[in-house]
Amino acid sequence: MKSSYDVVVIGAGPAGAACGITLQKSGIDHCVLDKATFPRGKTCAGLVTGKALKLIRELFEAEDVDRLFCEKSETISLYRKEEKLVEAPLARPVQLVNRREFDNALAQRYRELGGELYEGSVIRDIDYGANQLHLADGRVTEYKQLIFADGALSMAHKQLKTDKRDLAFGVEAYLPAEQFPTESVDIYFDYLPNGYVWVFPHGDTVCVGLANLYDKGTDYRGLLTAFLKEHGVTPDTSQYIGAFLPYGTVIDQKKLPPNVMLTGDGFADPITGEGLYMSMQTGIYAAQALKADVPKEDYLNRVKRLTRIVRDGKRVQKLFFSPSIQQKLLKKVKGKNRFVSYYFDSQVDDYRFEYREMRELIRAYKKKYHK
Ligand SMILES: Cc1cc2nc3c(=O)[nH]c(=O)nc-3n(C[C@H](O)[C@H](O)[C@H](O)COP(=O)(O)OP(=O)(O)OC[C@H]3O[C@@H](n4cnc5c(N)ncnc54)[C@H](O)[C@@H]3O)c2cc1C
Repeated sequence: MKSSYDVVVIGAGPAGAACGITLQKSGIDHCVLDKATFPRGKTCAGLVTGKALKLIRELFEAEDVDRLFCEKSETISLYRKEEKLVEAPLARPVQLVNRREFDNALAQRYRELGGELYEGSVIRDIDYGANQLHLADGRVTEYKQLIFADGALSMAHKQLKTDKRDLAFGVEAYLPAEQFPTESVDIYFDYLPNGYVWVFPHGDTVCVGLANLYDKGTDYRGLLTAFLKEHGVTPDTSQYIGAFLPYGTVIDQKKLPPNVMLTGDGFADPITGEGLYMSMQTGIYAAQALKADVPKEDYLNRVKRLTRIVRDGKRVQKLFFSPSIQQKLLKKVKGKNRFVSYYFDSQVDDYRFEYREMRELIRAYKKKYHK
């Protein structure tokens, strides 16, 4: 590692790797540091929407990306407790990745392009005044621009004083597929006050998990066990893995120094919890912004739409998870396979409609089906 770089990226997950790949292609002097050694695991259900797939294709260019996916699904099913409300075909199938392999492939891609990735690099301290990173093993490096891509509990939150109650916490388990067979991506409502349970097919395994707004008193593992038992599965709780995820936290990046940008997990979707798309997209945006005269300003402009989606989504989240409204919505949605397909394809899959454009979405749906 050199003693100084124009740009240092902290974290080599999807955000950091996407940022590194884009920086490497632009020929900008930089390095990426990660405290982990790849391949490393990451708690995640691994669902890849169409908008995330598009970025993956861009990052891997001519390479065949099919090898990255362990499963694809052409249907989404919604449940209220055990009652199946909807089984909706998807216009474009969703893909599923094993995060250990996917993140490793991204890191590998970065390396193949000649990127400098320093694994096992734990940052002990950041001296924002001197633009210096102090690593736990005594190494020190200087940066002109610093990019955080270090996940849900980013070191940036110390500066930002983020409240953990703004985050969600998720617990999941990967079970042998025959224990909970499904070909569709299944979402179960009515088990949690501010979240949902998912069951996603993953090749030989199935990912069963739940996420809910963080509350110290909630027994997330107990909730997952109860769900599995209700579905006839006796879980091996030693297989449970858990992690925080942002769930509508709008990060005020202006509180960070002008040469510091936060990418990745600050932008996850407040309803679905999707973070892969935002992570890669914000990583790419940060790298692209470094070509501008005032990178941070350029970056904040680039992430404006995503910030708006997160902010609006947070408002929708409050309504969506209010018990009375959710019950009404679930009742309304029952049997509406075509509407759920349309919603997924035009909102979740590609953000053609933002959360503030729900009226437009319904109007477009009605127009399409002459209702
Ligand atoms: C239970 C659960 C299920 C989810 N399911 C989905 C899903 O199905 N689809 C989806 O799109 N999103 C999902 N998400 C969200 C998604 O996992 C995250 O949004 C995504 O991983 C964020 O990517 P990232 O690169 O920002 O951070 P990460 O993937 O967390 O990577 C951060 C990297 O930074 C490194 N790091 C951290 N701190 C330091 C440090 N101090 N010094 C050096 N390195 C550091 C870490 O080792 C890590 O490699 C889920 C999240 C959870 C918790």
